Amino acid sequence: MRQNVCILGATGSIGDSTLKVLAQHAEHYAVFAVTGYHRIDKLIEICIEHRPKVVVVPQNKQQETWQKLQQHGLSNIEILTDEQGLVHVSSHADVDVVMAAIVGAAGLLPTLAAVRAGKRVLLANKEALVMSGDIMMQEAQKNNALLLPVDSEHNAIFQCLPHDYNISKNSTPLKQGISQVLLTASGGPFLHTPADELIKVTPAQACKHPNWSMGRKISVDSATLMNKGLELIEACHLFNICESYVTVVVHPQSIIHSMVQYIDGSTLAQMGNPDMCTPIAHALAWPQRIHTPVPALDLFVNHQLDFQPPDTQRFPALQLAREAIKEGGVMPTILNAANEIAVDAFLNEKIKFTDISKVIDYVLNATSNVAANDLEVILSHDILARRTANTYIQRKGQ
Ligand code: NAD
Ligand code: MG
Repeated sequence: MRQNVCILGATGSIGDSTLKVLAQHAEHYAVFAVTGYHRIDKLIEICIEHRPKVVVVPQNKQQETWQKLQQHGLSNIEILTDEQGLVHVSSHADVDVVMAAIVGAAGLLPTLAAVRAGKRVLLANKEALVMSGDIMMQEAQKNNALLLPVDSEHNAIFQCLPHDYNISKNSTPLKQGISQVLLTASGGPFLHTPADELIKVTPAQACKHPNWSMGRKISVDSATLMNKGLELIEACHLFNICESYVTVVVHPQSIIHSMVQYIDGSTLAQMGNPDMCTPIAHALAWPQRIHTPVPALDLFVNHQLDFQPPDTQRFPALQLAREAIKEGGVMPTILNAANEIAVDAFLNEKIKFTDISKVIDYVLNATSNVAANDLEVILSHDILARRTANTYIQRKGQ
């Protein structure tokens, strides 16, 4: 029996890698549903190759999608729209595996729906977990969902934990002799850029990551180190540990994807060429292993491994994230929403690169914290933070 896979965000970078892995294992996996937001032509190409049963697009792209599917003789594919459609496919009774690869807060409700429906959920959409951490983890436990990390660092940490460690049971690995988690960061494209030059960097430069090919939002997050900040929060929730157990280590080669230290002095690392097909295949098949197109690491070529602490003066976003998870409540939601608005403004050349962390800092300071144990509270604070960030950016631009 083939497993049915739903890919939320199929037209993106993670969607691409997921489809590549699935194509190699078509005897075990069928693509049941794919979703896309902007690039309908790309979605149609995916439909031609993978023949899903359902596609989900925004309402304003429904007509275009329908016409193009007709043109290619694919009128049997059902078209659903908007958030309702996303939630429908991610919790569909016929779906076994959900790849959560929508970027940003837009992925929260469909990812949560998959968790509530008890699916195997391959989590790339870190923003969803950052926003709803406690709720997402509790729902996974309650509904027997199998939450597996696709983010390469968290996938690496998971691989370095004792193999009976179960994320969805929300147990703490600290009871199993773990002393520290070392979260590696490439340092991004501006690792060596002097502080006074950061104000001038362009969106194109920020999106040119030295080791990974990714969507534009996460590329900018990698450049500001907010990606590592979001990942710090992600690690706290996934592995039920407090932020003081997570040390960020800059490792420019991106060969070690993260490490776990044990109380006996052991440090376990997961290594590999930087290609998302590896963590995707790991999460897809776990606890089995399956082939990917990724070549094995050649240590005679990639023989140099460097490490250094992050520079939080030049890249304040990491510290803002650490403060947000320390404070808890809705602060990580506020941080994430303000970051999404600021990154979008930077990509549209409305603010400078160095303004991104200023916007986030402002919005965090302008918000009173409350507990985040209710989805409505989380969603209303997400909206509030976006509004505050936009107002601040407009005022700054005048
Ligand atoms: P991307 O921009 O390439 O793709 C994003 C996908 O989300 C696209 O399919 C797009 O159509 C869809 N989307 C965008 N806005 C949407 C909306 N409002 N509603 C519904 N769908 C929407 O991004 P990506 O690089 O593939 O990243 C996806 C997620 O995976 C992000 O959360 C990112 O942080 C995480 N991630 C990515 C990588 C990577 O290497 N690319 C690595 C680790 C984690
Ligand atoms: Mg990562």
